[in-house]
Amino acid sequence: MHAQSELAHFARISTLGELTASIAHEVNQPLAAIVTSGEAGLRWLENGVAHLDRVKIGLERIIQNGKRASDVVLRLRVLARKDDFKRIELDLNEIIEDALLLVQREIMRNRVSLTLVLAKKLLPIQGDRVHLQQVIINLIVNAIQAMSDVNNRRLVLETAKNDDGSIVVTVRDNGRGFDLEQQNRMFSAFYTTKAEGMGMGLSISRSIIDAHGGRIWASLNEDGGATFQFAIPTQTEMVS
Ligand code: ADP
Repeated sequence: MHAQSELAHFARISTLGELTASIAHEVNQPLAAIVTSGEAGLRWLENGVAHLDRVKIGLERIIQNGKRASDVVLRLRVLARKDDFKRIELDLNEIIEDALLLVQREIMRNRVSLTLVLAKKLLPIQGDRVHLQQVIINLIVNAIQAMSDVNNRRLVLETAKNDDGSIVVTVRDNGRGFDLEQQNRMFSAFYTTKAEGMGMGLSISRSIIDAHGGRIWASLNEDGGATFQFAIPTQTEMVS
């Protein structure tokens, strides 16, 4: 289990490495907005007649953007931390939104159109925030990579309540899909079809979902592309 968690940490750090440029941009954007708002505010003050209402708007923008930057840094720190499995009550919708904060630039840069369909009032699950975030980031990054040859890239992220009380998270792309041989091996450690791939993403994702008492699977879409899904039992189901 220790080796497994070391490996998970390593895979997480290398995914973050791949996303570094994106994340740096994610932090840089609000910082640039802070500087611009600060300069604009100063100009409004220096104009002779102080336009305090404009200055106020500038200050509000500074605070808002400062919070945005520190939000990204905070999530990054959490994700890069070398923690053991921590089981707490979690809202899967929130986990998805957190993960999106770190990959949204990558989504934009690759001109992927994202549809987010989050079920309302999901029951909490018991789980580890960082590990689940890692699964979602893995699935999104894989989906983006699978769509590299497609023109009209569409990514759908969905949460839904299952009849058995579990929550299902769906990541659907319209990428190149996979064949039967790939389907059988995809979740194995070190299986990759990518030149730079490590082949650990899905294997680690599966062990994380297993540790949450859930399951993860992949299927092909009728209209092309792949769908990856995982289901995690809600708290009530685990207690009863
Ligand atoms: P890596 O991304 O390093 O290759 P993964 O374990 O995440 O490692 O993925 C293993 C393999 O599964 C990929 O190399 C690819 O062949 C296949 N795969 C993963 N996600 C998708 C997807 N969304 N569409 C098609 N194939 C995929």
